[in-house]
Amino acid sequence: MKCPCCGKDVGLYEMDLAFALPDAIHALPEAQRAARATIHSDLCSLDDRRFFIRGVVYAPVQQLGTLFGWGVWAEVSREVFLRYQAIYDQDASGEPPAAGVLANCPPGYERIVQPLEIAFGPADQRPTFRLAPTDSDFYREHVGGMPAQKWHSIIERHLGSTDGDTKPS
Ligand SMILES: [Zn+2]
Repeated sequence: MKCPCCGKDVGLYEMDLAFALPDAIHALPEAQRAARATIHSDLCSLDDRRFFIRGVVYAPVQQLGTLFGWGVWAEVSREVFLRYQAIYDQDASGEPPAAGVLANCPPGYERIVQPLEIAFGPADQRPTFRLAPTDSDFYREHVGGMPAQKWHSIIERHLGSTDGDTKPS
């Protein structure tokens, strides 16, 4: 397919980029990670004291009109973590939203404290993260859209390292 910013053939549109781990766990040397972290595809904990769940932050791509999904982690309270664990295999669309804080810094964005609201969904979908208003490009693009040119540079840099936004079975 043709890129809307430059007309270049970019193959199938890549519409998501995922982080395998929260930054705090990714930053650990491997031996420490093994000793201190409990890692699952959608739930992680560190020292049984910090808790993370994986979800998706959507940002519309300008000109393309479709949503780009950032597969990121949110740090949550132990209560939210245990609740998500309990409803993980169920349709959780009726669950009240929970609070969290963004636990990854997407490439090309400044590292900030980004609070968010977690909307749980059907069993086969990761929760959706809705960002609280902050003075950051990541928030602005979540609400107002990402320039097509930025999307193009992201997929060009990271193509091949992407993962869908459905849970592994
Ligand atoms: Zn382009």
